[in-house]
Amino acid sequence: MRISHLRLRLRDLGCKPCHEDRLLRGWVQLCSYDRKGSAAATFFPAALRAELPAIEAELEGLARLHGEYPADAEVARLLLELHDGQMVESVLLPRGGLCVSTQVGCAVGCVFCMSGRDGLLRQLGSAEIVAQVVLARRRRKVEKVVFMGMGEPAHNLDNVLEAIELLGTQGNIGHKDLVLSTVGDVRVFERLMERCLNSVRPEPVEGSNREDGDSVHASTSSARTDYGAVKPALAISLHSTDASLRAELLPNAPQIPVEELVTRCEEYARTTGYPVQYQWTLIKGVNDSDAELARIAELLAGKYAVMNFIPFNAVDGLEYRRPSVERIAVMVGTLKQRGILARIRDSAGQEVEGACGQLRARAVK
Ligand code: SF4
Repeated sequence: MRISHLRLRLRDLGCKPCHEDRLLRGWVQLCSYDRKGSAAATFFPAALRAELPAIEAELEGLARLHGEYPADAEVARLLLELHDGQMVESVLLPRGGLCVSTQVGCAVGCVFCMSGRDGLLRQLGSAEIVAQVVLARRRRKVEKVVFMGMGEPAHNLDNVLEAIELLGTQGNIGHKDLVLSTVGDVRVFERLMERCLNSVRPEPVEGSNREDGDSVHASTSSARTDYGAVKPALAISLHSTDASLRAELLPNAPQIPVEELVTRCEEYARTTGYPVQYQWTLIKGVNDSDAELARIAELLAGKYAVMNFIPFNAVDGLEYRRPSVERIAVMVGTLKQRGILARIRDSAGQEVEGACGQLRARAVK
């Protein structure tokens, strides 16, 4: 299901943008539809009130919890079953973070990832992406969402941007806490920059009551949903500075020279005011050399960026290993000495159930 399609359906039921927003806000924030002094029963148009149980049941059925590893922990992997029986994973991260999937399977086929083993099976609708947040919020607070789970967001950009728009407006999540991750695709840079350039928020109409959230929402709602008011932060899966090694590790990623990737990222970072996060899965003997380190330092010198090293986690059937703790510390320390922000990021929950996509792969088997 797409959020834009749901909005059209609501419009057919006589809803105004304020009704759509209130229903979507109630869903994604797990709160009542009621507004001050007026219960939803009287506030919503009669046609929506009649249809509400069916709509709520559809939203509820978008994603259901199939398994949680470990159970009841702050940091855990969630295996979710979608309405058609397909499965995806979400990860509860520390400090209120959540990693969501954007596709079932993935076409990029990174050699160190289970999610791409079977290729792309299907796209997730924007509502299915947001449903992962709703489901996680039933377990604990979610204040940051990273689009880094199963799938390449660039290959499902309309749905991902729709989900981002809803989470950043009705979902009560700060724009910089919505992190879109990509292997680097020109379409992503173009769409994100377009949103920055076209995002002049219209003034609320004269006479709107600023204390009444609905009046303000009604006057600006079409802008918030259509023109792209929400500017997410950006993460790039780099993994190597060497073009041929990068093509080997990420076989179906666009072959954009790394210099161009960094230039485009820098433009977005300076425009939005958030640093770009570079992701680097560290694999022993593959991309942990001094030559890579020197090249990263050269490329990111003076850039508004942070390098996240993610030590490789075991994947069923793969021979790769992570570098030693000492080597990882040297890599981080060397970049810091060169004035580049660098840190180690462990993929949450992986010590329990392996790398991204493994839970799903085992469940499907
Ligand atoms: S690492 Fe990301 S882009 Fe690469 S195959 Fe896995 S899900 Fe796709």
